[in-house]
Amino acid sequence: MQLNYYIETYGCQMNVADTELMGGVLKHDGHRRVPEPDQADVLIVNTCAIREHAEQRVIGRIGQLNRYKQSRPEVRLGVAGCVAKELGRELLDRATYVDFVVGPDSYRQLPEILARVEGGERVVYDRFNRSEHYENLKPYRLEKFAAWITIMRGCDKFCSYCIVPFTRGREKCRTLESVVEEVETSVADGAQEVTLLGQNVNSYHDGGADFPDLLTAVAAVPSLARVRFTTSHPWDFTEKLVDTIAGHDNIMNHVHLPVQSGSNRVLKAMKREYTRESYSRQIDMLRDRIPHCALSTDIIVGFPGETEADFEATLDLMTHTRYNSAYIFMYSPRPHTPAIDLTDEVVPRAVAQERLECLNELQRSIGAAYLLEKVGTTQPVLVQRAARRGRGLLSGWTEHRETVVFPGSEEMIGEIVLVAIGGFSGFTLHAEPVGEPCPVGRYRGELNIIAG
Ligand code: SF4
Repeated sequence: MQLNYYIETYGCQMNVADTELMGGVLKHDGHRRVPEPDQADVLIVNTCAIREHAEQRVIGRIGQLNRYKQSRPEVRLGVAGCVAKELGRELLDRATYVDFVVGPDSYRQLPEILARVEGGERVVYDRFNRSEHYENLKPYRLEKFAAWITIMRGCDKFCSYCIVPFTRGREKCRTLESVVEEVETSVADGAQEVTLLGQNVNSYHDGGADFPDLLTAVAAVPSLARVRFTTSHPWDFTEKLVDTIAGHDNIMNHVHLPVQSGSNRVLKAMKREYTRESYSRQIDMLRDRIPHCALSTDIIVGFPGETEADFEATLDLMTHTRYNSAYIFMYSPRPHTPAIDLTDEVVPRAVAQERLECLNELQRSIGAAYLLEKVGTTQPVLVQRAARRGRGLLSGWTEHRETVVFPGSEEMIGEIVLVAIGGFSGFTLHAEPVGEPCPVGRYRGELNIIAG
């Protein structure tokens, strides 16, 4: 029986890639993706557990989706992702209208799950599976021109605040061959850009091959214009990786390197395994070899025990490192993690909020200075979609992954075009197109002529 399914995705890009995996499994089984929940026979919420109160938010959202079941009792409702793994069977007890719970290692079993649900069962598939790499499975991509390709799953780092090792399990890597094959297929299907995904891509390994070796193999795929990767842990960030980025025109000069704190005391309590000094040396090495490399980071404020001096150290690190962009969060206590037991050292919420605002303010001014440098330059932009605001405007990404808005027609979506940057507002660059779309893989040559 063909069913219409709708998947709602929360959280990081790994979850977006997992939604595409589920879509691939369901498409292969003969089912059809629909854009709205009221058109669906099967509703799936792909959840994220990284922030505080994630569980309550999921319960709230599935409660809202339950109204589709109430008006059409044949509708099935499932919960996938990290909260599914975290709560497992408890979800069936807390939300009696949920039909199935499916953890991140069980998406291949969706046809079996749906068959059992059609047979009247309520089921939970939430076991870790060390051998599930989702190889030989074609994702149903949400965008043809930008492919998110998971190269590894899980994490072995066990940072003291992070729930990921408990919801996604221990680190496991795909084979280099299977990743390259998926990249080749994506390019044949129209991808201009691929982003290699993992909780810590730098620790990727397949036999004797490490992440720079994989990156080199991916960059060699013919007609692939842009390669990106995320996320990196500073512990595994090597000179070999930097040399690999520097040595390939189609590996984008943008590194996301989460620092989390500028205080060695806090970094130790977070179990991050590096110091402020060793991190700064890595940044110096990166900027020495790739002077115009964009740099972004993640920062947590209000980690238990964070003093004013610790916070000042983070402020100082941000001031000196000058990130192009930073994702700054307030610490979220999460179940299973060692940091949740640091109850005596909780930073008052108002203090954490003030620190968050202070860092955001600093980052806004640094980010604006970088955007200002772009004004008057010509940039190649991968056109992503019609802009959310403004008729006849398109939105796309620069090499440094800044958002650019410019006038154009929707036929340009998926192309790499050259645009002249005229200004910016907030975090968005404003531009005018320059000439025709660039043929795949040739835009760098054209840009060099303009820049030279
Ligand atoms: S490296 Fe640390 S923060 Fe990142 S996923 Fe692993 S445990 Fe979580």
